[in-house]
Amino acid sequence: MNANPHNPQHSAWTVRESDVVVIGAGPSGLSAATTLRAAGKSVTVLEARERVGGRTWSKHVDGAFLEIGGQWISPDQTVLSELVEELGMDTFSRYREGKSVYRAPDGTVTQYTGEMFPVSEETEREMERLIEILDGLAAEIGPHEPWAHPKARELDTISFHHWLREQSSDEEACNNIGLFVAGGMLTKPSHAFSALQAVLMAASAGSFSNLVDEDFILDKRVVGGMQSVSQAMAARLGDDVVTGHPVRVLRWQEEGEYPVQVEAEEFSEDGEATGAGVIVHARRAVVAVPPNLYSRISYVPALPRRQHQLHQHQSLGLVIKVHAVYETPFWREKGLSGTAFSADSLVQEVYDNTNVDPETGREESRGTLVGFVSDEKADHVFAMSAQERQEKLLASIAELLGDEAKNPVVYYESDWGNEEWTRGAYAASYDLGGLHRYGMDQAETVGPIHWSCSDIAAEGYQHVDGAVRMGQKTARDIVESL
Ligand SMILES: Cc1cc2nc3c(=O)[nH]c(=O)nc-3n(C[C@H](O)[C@H](O)[C@H](O)COP(=O)(O)OP(=O)(O)OC[C@H]3O[C@@H](n4cnc5c(N)ncnc54)[C@H](O)[C@@H]3O)c2cc1C
Repeated sequence: MNANPHNPQHSAWTVRESDVVVIGAGPSGLSAATTLRAAGKSVTVLEARERVGGRTWSKHVDGAFLEIGGQWISPDQTVLSELVEELGMDTFSRYREGKSVYRAPDGTVTQYTGEMFPVSEETEREMERLIEILDGLAAEIGPHEPWAHPKARELDTISFHHWLREQSSDEEACNNIGLFVAGGMLTKPSHAFSALQAVLMAASAGSFSNLVDEDFILDKRVVGGMQSVSQAMAARLGDDVVTGHPVRVLRWQEEGEYPVQVEAEEFSEDGEATGAGVIVHARRAVVAVPPNLYSRISYVPALPRRQHQLHQHQSLGLVIKVHAVYETPFWREKGLSGTAFSADSLVQEVYDNTNVDPETGREESRGTLVGFVSDEKADHVFAMSAQERQEKLLASIAELLGDEAKNPVVYYESDWGNEEWTRGAYAASYDLGGLHRYGMDQAETVGPIHWSCSDIAAEGYQHVDGAVRMGQKTARDIVESL
């Protein structure tokens, strides 16, 4: 195989040999590398960004510590919990004392306790019935091979929006149930993905009931932030993690001692390229980037037709994570938990996201709220000026929790759609009909190339736990094949 990069005049390229080259230092790539290293394999991890952690990222903004990306762990996410424990990190629970808030489609705002929204008895019955149907389907179909189930085609060729309306004529019930998967998880409108995709989302969290229970799904956070999990894994891997090096070319062949050659040119986020780079010769490659980015890499020879096609049917959703920090958690003084839902508002979900200080282990005195603005609503507010958007989003939170919400001391919007090396949030899902047509091939290896990310996980699909599970599984598969 040609040992030179595409531009052989670059003499400043470093050449490395590893058993495995991992592309992407998010939780999946780093988990794969950690497991491979533990099995005695040499690894090189190449990361495009100048930091590790991918869609998990903590930042200080105007003196406030914010988790820009993934943060919560639920009780079923045992593989991530074990990793956090093994790394010696602590977790803390989301604040959930007091009443939650529900805003009905007619704009009525009600405070409530318990799991069920304060809707009419009839709507409550309909919501419970829909949850039961979805629980049944999730249990029957499971997260591993939803495409193989006899009902796969039927459920994958109808949008979740229309499927819900086939089950119930109660619009409020359909919208509330739709919210948990559409705005709340896949961050696409419910007409843009199938009922089968919704069932996979539920099955990956154990059940639909788990998905609609915010106390389950948004249970714990890592003290110091979820990104620190990736940072700790990267620290153990040391110089074998190379940041600021997007992989542009992956040359591969079926046979040979080193059938993989990966080329990554040094790249700085301010746009400066130095002309230096890294070439890694490896026995296996793990592509640990979200599927929407697979085609940013040139494969030589080209990938098979199935891969070309299937990658075009997976896309990332869009959500803005809105952070607002206040001098005090004012909602708690009113007996509110900070949890609020409104399928019809710009900000459809709000939670208390107050931090625990890693130095003292105590909760900070300032209060933080986090809200989410999904899919078409995100398009709508992104068309506004930054100032107008901030005013509208804070006004939307204020409708739920009170006018104090309009005056945070720190305000920040996580905008992952703008991130070159992600391009959306939270994760990838199939378009209508894509899951039963292509799902069976999404994790198929191509010669020495393996795929690993949360977007193709079964348990923990779309979550950090799924990323870690995929990384560890991919590593075990490679160890076995070597
Ligand atoms: C706003 C937001 C909130 C979320 N909330 C939660 C939550 O509360 N709980 C939860 O469990 N999950 C949450 N998630 C999802 C979770 O963060 C992801 O599922 C997880 O980070 C996926 O890990 P990964 O390693 O598969 O991919 P990523 O984290 O995306 O990592 C992929 C890495 O590959 C790199 N890369 C891309 N292309 C290249 C290339 N060509 N060469 C080299 N490197 C490349 C990227 O820079 C990135 O570092 C959230 C995500 C977002 C964005």
